[in-house]
Amino acid sequence: MSDIDDPRSDGDPVMRSHGRLAISASVRPRELMTPNPRLKDAWTARIITLFPEAFPGTLGLSLTGKALNEGLWALEPIDLRAFGVGKHRNVDDTPAGGGAGMVLRPDVVDRALGVAAAGTPGDRARWPVLYLSPRGKPFRQADAERWSKAEGMTLLCGRFEGVDERVLEARGVEEVSLGDFVLTGGEIAAQALIDATVRLIPRVLGNRDSIEEESFSSGLLEHPQYTRPAVWKDRAVPEVLLSGHHARIETWRRDEAERLTKQRRPDLWRAYRGDVADDGDPGGDREL
Ligand code: SAH
Repeated sequence: MSDIDDPRSDGDPVMRSHGRLAISASVRPRELMTPNPRLKDAWTARIITLFPEAFPGTLGLSLTGKALNEGLWALEPIDLRAFGVGKHRNVDDTPAGGGAGMVLRPDVVDRALGVAAAGTPGDRARWPVLYLSPRGKPFRQADAERWSKAEGMTLLCGRFEGVDERVLEARGVEEVSLGDFVLTGGEIAAQALIDATVRLIPRVLGNRDSIEEESFSSGLLEHPQYTRPAVWKDRAVPEVLLSGHHARIETWRRDEAERLTKQRRPDLWRAYRGDVADDGDPGGDREL
């Protein structure tokens, strides 16, 4: 069923929103089709993609999904195909210089970025414009923290061999990578970025403390976690955690976080020791 056929659609094939301005795409869980209250100025992700039906995907589940339904944030997939050229709405062409695959055309992507920019602040600190790309700057928790304080962001999902370089330059698009591996398209990466960002928006997660204690927030990986039963397959929960002694538990957790970080992520450990030394922590040893 296309959007045009869809009685729930207002006929606009391009922009879809889960907010009060809601226009439902044809493939959506029913609960997300009901118009929901969208809080004024809610943080908004605009996603340019050839596969708008990939959204909200996992973002529609659990706490991010609940917050989406409550209008604490909004999602607006923009169908790149709608900006394609000719009868077949072509979006790609063969790479200049030859070689395998196809490249997304700059004129097509530019038109989509133009629509995505409508009504958004030009200041990139207030509204980042990102292209998901293995060549980009690796995505970090600090980026999610910064972006969660913006008004929203635009994410361009690539497919095939990627996007013509000229449109990235002309539009001042920032490239962000999920990691040193190659995905088939930018949609999974976009969902990961949005998830990490949205969960930092106040009220999206119930418990703010859980954010502050997490991996990376303090520069360390998180300590190991345990729950009931106290003994499972001859493995006991560390005794200190059952002691009720808060100071000792804190010390144990900090020691474990440091041990794991040192062992698994020497890069983080070096940065952390540097920070601690800068803070003048007398306990900071300099062995690494
Ligand atoms: N030829 C490109 C890879 C294209 S993969 C290269 O070698 O750099 C197709 C699309 O998937 C990309 O345009 C990008 O949007 C997305 N993608 C692939 N790997 C990614 C990663 N590690 N991080 C973010 N996006 C990625």
